Amino acid sequence: MLLQREDLKKAKRVVVKVGSSTITYTNGKRNYFRIDRLARELSDLQNQGKEMILVSSGAVAVGVDRLGLPEKPKTIPGKQACAAVGQGLLMHTYEKFFAEYGQIVAQVLVTRSEMLDRHRYTNARNTFMELINRRVIPIVNENDVVALDELKIGDNDNLSAMVANIVDADLVIILSDVDGLYTANPQTHPDAKLVDRVEEITPEIEASAGGAGSSVGTGGMCTKIQAAKSATTSGINLVIASGSKNDAVSRILNGENIGTLFVSKENRLQFRKRWLAFGAKISGKVVVDDGCEKAIRKSGGCSILPVGIKSVEGDFDAGSTVSVVTEAGHELARGLTHYSSAELQTIKGARSSEIEHLLGHKAYDEVIHRDDLVILN
Ligand code: GLU
Repeated sequence: MLLQREDLKKAKRVVVKVGSSTITYTNGKRNYFRIDRLARELSDLQNQGKEMILVSSGAVAVGVDRLGLPEKPKTIPGKQACAAVGQGLLMHTYEKFFAEYGQIVAQVLVTRSEMLDRHRYTNARNTFMELINRRVIPIVNENDVVALDELKIGDNDNLSAMVANIVDADLVIILSDVDGLYTANPQTHPDAKLVDRVEEITPEIEASAGGAGSSVGTGGMCTKIQAAKSATTSGINLVIASGSKNDAVSRILNGENIGTLFVSKENRLQFRKRWLAFGAKISGKVVVDDGCEKAIRKSGGCSILPVGIKSVEGDFDAGSTVSVVTEAGHELARGLTHYSSAELQTIKGARSSEIEHLLGHKAYDEVIHRDDLVILN
């Protein structure tokens, strides 16, 4: 059955995106009231055991204000200079408010290359996971200062979907200056209605989303729909709601019917497994012993430990997709390996408790986690 609003109560890892227009006034000054409320709300959700990730725009807008410019510069170096000035101020403000609520935050600046290059993807993912496991709230923005044109995402709506993909989030909430998706542009069509739920992003929806947004923000509805499309096709649900509503994030996570919910047809695990089975490039082979083969078949997919590995073929890095092969040479499964081929040569056949001694470090007990393994038969 497709996801219902009530099911959002179960969302654990949640990416919240706030636009410049939500946290700054039109004159570029920071809206401390909203930033404080956001920090308080996310800290409270974090205290409930959720894993919150904030994607925040506003670097350019805050920089424009700090430099005393009448408007956002038109040139790229002009905007980059504003972002360089504003990003520090933005983080300072978040640090101050989150600290009030006893919450540690971290600045994470990314570019599109984190998505395009496997090494960078794995590296970014590992850093995010480390922060999440340490109960830190990552505050993410695009690295505007260095992002070259061809590597620029350009808007934080798409960035939030990308981050959700990297961290395997359950849900993305985009807080905006609109209440959600309308049947038509509400500024020109007063009878336009708010759409509560979208199960399929049709070409009509894409066309009706139109162009750019407010004077301080970048995206408008168009980039939000792109983000929704990218999130839902990779198994992640997404809600667009107004950032000016009180406690919008908590209310959405309480199953309340606010904003527009874009429903993903499959869940993240199903998506991940499908991608592993059919989409991923296979970089090598891990041959498992009889005991491991039986355990995998019997359980319908368990984690693979070093002790069950007989041999390794190919030259691959940690984070690569590998074939899991039986001793008879049958491809049993595919999975994402936590260790490189060189590391596996050293730890194959060993107990997990020996990994640290053998490698000098231990990131994981298992070589392939059960969630990262798909059985082929
Ligand atoms: N990264 C830009 C900033 O922080 C904003 C991009 C956007 O508005 O979507 O100013």
